[in-house]
Amino acid sequence: MDNKPLTDTIAAIATPHGCGGIGVVRVSGAAVPQLALTITKKNLQPRKAELVEFYNPLGNVVDIGLAILFPAPHSFTGEDVLELHGHGGVVVLALLLEAVVAFGARIANPGEFSARAFENNKIDLAQAEAIADLISAQSKQAAGAALRSLQGNFSAQINSIVSDLTTLRIKVEAAIDFPEDADYLGREQLPEEITAQLTKCQQVLAEAEHGQLLASGLRVVVLGEPNVGKSSLLNLLSGEDTAIVTNIPGTTRDILQAQVSLSGIRMDVLDTAGIRESADCIEQEGIRRAWLAVDTAQIIILMLDGSVVDESNPRILYPEWVGKFPDDAKILVVVNKIDLLDAAQEDQPVSAVSVVPSPLVSRAAPEFILYKDYVVVKMSAKTGLGKQQLEEALSHITGVNVAVEPSFIARKRHVIALQDAAQNLQSSQQWLQDGAVLELVAEELRLAQQALAAITGEFTADDLLGRIFSEFCIGK
Ligand code: GDP
Repeated sequence: MDNKPLTDTIAAIATPHGCGGIGVVRVSGAAVPQLALTITKKNLQPRKAELVEFYNPLGNVVDIGLAILFPAPHSFTGEDVLELHGHGGVVVLALLLEAVVAFGARIANPGEFSARAFENNKIDLAQAEAIADLISAQSKQAAGAALRSLQGNFSAQINSIVSDLTTLRIKVEAAIDFPEDADYLGREQLPEEITAQLTKCQQVLAEAEHGQLLASGLRVVVLGEPNVGKSSLLNLLSGEDTAIVTNIPGTTRDILQAQVSLSGIRMDVLDTAGIRESADCIEQEGIRRAWLAVDTAQIIILMLDGSVVDESNPRILYPEWVGKFPDDAKILVVVNKIDLLDAAQEDQPVSAVSVVPSPLVSRAAPEFILYKDYVVVKMSAKTGLGKQQLEEALSHITGVNVAVEPSFIARKRHVIALQDAAQNLQSSQQWLQDGAVLELVAEELRLAQQALAAITGEFTADDLLGRIFSEFCIGK
């Protein structure tokens, strides 16, 4: 995004495509006052809704509706803005937009109104992103968190750390310039003050990670041999008969997907073809797709049939499977069909050891045996027994406290920026501990501040801004 003044006038239909009671055409830019006069043939009062006729350049009335003029700078974009509330029909709105364009506006790009609001300092970048996140929110928790971000909750927390870091940097720079006064300038308190900022940063990071999960959801892939109950699990979680459940191994040959909401976190659960050696080319293709799904999974549910666990013949967590999992995927072992176990077996506490026969092979080092890496749930996908434990395990595995709603929504880039800032603060602490020159401490503090300032868009590369706004919808 360049810094040239944005004077051209943009227009877009701001309501969804289709039929509705009303439809809104939004216009922003320098040509608005004249355009408002020409299209309504009225001198509109600022911020006052007036029932008017909308004219095209031929002088024909294209619709009747409300017109509201928001003179700059008291508008969403900070420019002169006109809103035309016509009837919500596809053709009538297209005719209205056509008239607006004929009177000097051009069609807006996706997110261009929000980009202008950002350029004109009406909102910062995190707030602009929150608008898009509010519109695309898939749960009431996500919508609530997006709204709080839009109201400035997230930005306020970031700005508070940025401002404290500025004070800290001034102190460090002064101690560099006047070494003889370093003690007087408060060098001794520096470790404590940096720790305080690091703690704040880590708290915001934990909330941001939760906020990001609310916004983007998680991809959960269910993997296992044929007939262990993967399709039944999908049906249980989705509450629908999404997958065909039969006792013929190899029934699920393609990927089936269900959306499950866990405390507002959207989980796209993918049921895959059972993994086994197969001569059937359709089944082979299903298995190939299963592995493709695994590549993008954040959580992998490894499912096995608990009624046939044979400790003398370890059949799960094959090293060749686990070796193919993405490094950062979390693994949940589900031992299914416990309803088939007799009472004595069922009473046995399920430890990883009893349900996951050794040798277990870790992903990182195939010869190394690990149990504690895996969360294990014993359940019955058929009767629903253990469903709650499964949900608890899923929530545990996300690493966030899903019971508490985060005070803001966040995106991956925010989480990365906060991680970077925390890392820089840790390095600055280390330099201090090692007795290094203060220039190194100052540089880490500068980098931490820069990383955080990118969240609110104070220092953000133009191409990133372009990418962020291009993902918005038209008219926003
Ligand atoms: P998939 O091939 O792994 O997707 O397995 P399915 O979900 O199609 O299930 C295979 C067979 O096992 C079907 O006959 C299911 O009814 C049965 N099944 C699945 N889960 C359970 C369970 O928890 N208990 C019992 N008793 N049967 C189950």
